[in-house]
Amino acid sequence: MVKAYAALNAREDLKPYEYESKTLEKNEIRIKVHSCGICHSDISAIDNSWGKSKYPMIAGHEIIGEVIEIASNSSMHKIGDTVGLGWHSGYCNNCDYCDVGDHNFCSNTKKTVFSQFGGFAEEVVAEEESVIPIPPKLNLEDAGPLLCGGITVFTPIVEFGINEKHKVGVIGIGGLGHLAIQFYKALGCHVTAFTNSQDKNDFIKKMGADDVVSSTDQVTLKNLGAKFDLLISTVNVSLDWNLYLNIIKPRGRLHFVGAVLEPIKSSVFSLMAGRRSISGSPVGSPKNIKKMLNFCVEHNIKPIVEHFKFSDINKAIEKVRSNKVRFRAVLSW
Ligand SMILES: [Zn+2]
Ligand SMILES: [Zn+2]
Repeated sequence: MVKAYAALNAREDLKPYEYESKTLEKNEIRIKVHSCGICHSDISAIDNSWGKSKYPMIAGHEIIGEVIEIASNSSMHKIGDTVGLGWHSGYCNNCDYCDVGDHNFCSNTKKTVFSQFGGFAEEVVAEEESVIPIPPKLNLEDAGPLLCGGITVFTPIVEFGINEKHKVGVIGIGGLGHLAIQFYKALGCHVTAFTNSQDKNDFIKKMGADDVVSSTDQVTLKNLGAKFDLLISTVNVSLDWNLYLNIIKPRGRLHFVGAVLEPIKSSVFSLMAGRRSISGSPVGSPKNIKKMLNFCVEHNIKPIVEHFKFSDINKAIEKVRSNKVRFRAVLSW
């Protein structure tokens, strides 16, 4: 039996839960979970915030572990390999997007949390394509959050060809935002952090932000002027988006990677003036996850995490819910 922590109903504390280990199917890999980060999407899954959770719900999709079993036809990984698993646990591998390595746009993905039992467990099963080798130089205790939080904020670099000439603003400095600051600074960009918890200022500057600005102070925002090439929003609450559109340069964009449930209110005039765009992206492809992990090794980028034992999972989740974690909670067995 596999030991896990499951939500039996929406918005309840997780309970110890055991389930029978499944037999591997074609292309599948069994991973012994070493550690797993807690992402806001896990809380959304536990709470049924998106209306598609099934119970028992075993969340967890920032997994670091070891390959312990491989389907007989699979050849991408070896027993004993250290690997990671993020939001997706499988792809169709046979569509226009999978064919060119854009697996995250595949319309037949399997989700680690929603299609199966996830990483708040002793083991997890995933298809080989979605299982990512972890470079030996990464610190395994802290690497989990890169598999979802990290790739989510790294993807815009690849998608939009961001380089050292660009001025980037990161809205919301939590699990995703603190990694975004480190990535864009390492690229050589000028990075401005927008946050409503100004008590983190010194810390945010140490991570590499050139400026720290209040995310809600209208006057300060207006006075910044139209200087940003890219604003990445990692928050899950609505802000005054028109204020943000007005500080974007011509041809720049406001890019959403945090799931705001309310519709985005924006003025078409703010978009037309300067051909500005509003866009969004989900996690990233296996190819780009590998690229990101190598970038982290090259630039010594690490998630800043608080460690919890799996037995303290409810304590950890409560801390994530109350926004008190600096900057990501990671569970280990
Ligand atoms: Zn996530
Ligand atoms: Zn596909």
